[in-house]
Amino acid sequence: MKAPCYLCGEPASLDGLCIDCYNKEHPLIEVSTPLTLVACKRCGSVKIPGGWKKLTLEDANSEDLWPHQLDILLDSEVKPLGQEIEVIIEEEKRLDKVLHVALRAIGKSHQDLPAHEEKYNVEVRFSYGTCDTCGMMSGGYYEATLQVRADGRQLSEDEEEDIVRTVTEMTVAQYGHDDKAFVTKISSDRYGLDFQLGSNHLCQSIADFLESQYLAERKQNYKLVGQDKVGKDKFRITILIRLPRFGLGDFVKVLGSPCQVMAMGKSGLTCFDLVQRQRFTMNPKSSKWQTLEYLASKDEKREFMVTTKVHGQPIQLMDSKTFEIRDIDENNLETIDVGNIVYGVFLEDEFYLLPTE
Ligand SMILES: [Zn+2]
Ligand SMILES: [Zn+2]
Repeated sequence: MKAPCYLCGEPASLDGLCIDCYNKEHPLIEVSTPLTLVACKRCGSVKIPGGWKKLTLEDANSEDLWPHQLDILLDSEVKPLGQEIEVIIEEEKRLDKVLHVALRAIGKSHQDLPAHEEKYNVEVRFSYGTCDTCGMMSGGYYEATLQVRADGRQLSEDEEEDIVRTVTEMTVAQYGHDDKAFVTKISSDRYGLDFQLGSNHLCQSIADFLESQYLAERKQNYKLVGQDKVGKDKFRITILIRLPRFGLGDFVKVLGSPCQVMAMGKSGLTCFDLVQRQRFTMNPKSSKWQTLEYLASKDEKREFMVTTKVHGQPIQLMDSKTFEIRDIDENNLETIDVGNIVYGVFLEDEFYLLPTE
């Protein structure tokens, strides 16, 4: 025989209460009404205790922002009290700046009790402001400048494109993690590229990446720009990344031997030795690297057509532009037939055939 519920007299199940009375005394969630949703009018971020929460890039591009903004607000405003809680948001009525929603909470008020559903009516009032990031961006705020140059030459178009894309992708990747992950200004002139970045941290990681990707030189400068509220010196950093004189496809000399640059990146510089006819990779710390010299631009390469190939005789190549015929040693050509297009280059008055790939 169960004791009666002390509130309603029905048979009690838990703590002297029947299931209904227990559930009423122990709601599944706690949420207040009305709620105010403060959104950034520029980017749609939502103000929550401790800062602004950004929409994901996908949500920020959707037609209606409010459902995503409401999710963020409720995520911070709805306090789950029971167990295995699921909250379903149902739109009841939407006016310009006021939204009425019903929250259906499903879950258990106690682990020994079955799940049930509760309904909460919440009024949401919209208000607009400017988030920290948009405020800093519109104020031209920046902590760091990244300058990209090339040693003794201009950046190539490919390099410029690749670097701008890298900066953009790495900035976007920090969206939502770093409030200062934005680019205030990009400028390009005959000296190279300049980026003003909101975040010093972001600037450092971009510089790290470019330094290793391009086997570049790096210099850092700090400039005192004033003091913060507590009188601590504030610095602005400038990082200079200087790309080497040579780029992909250019010709260099290593240990006195002419080579073509085949690849560059984290693992080092891969060259094709035009005399030994083999590839090798070296990194900036190696002793070989110390002998590295720039020879010529990739634009020096010339196109030829194989016109004659007879066993035991020199192979004849015809320059595609001048139609001049040139004889080369048969040993140089492994897998080439008459009619093939090949590339060669004159370096310090010597002719070299370039690798076929
Ligand atoms: Zn009861
Ligand atoms: Zn914003």
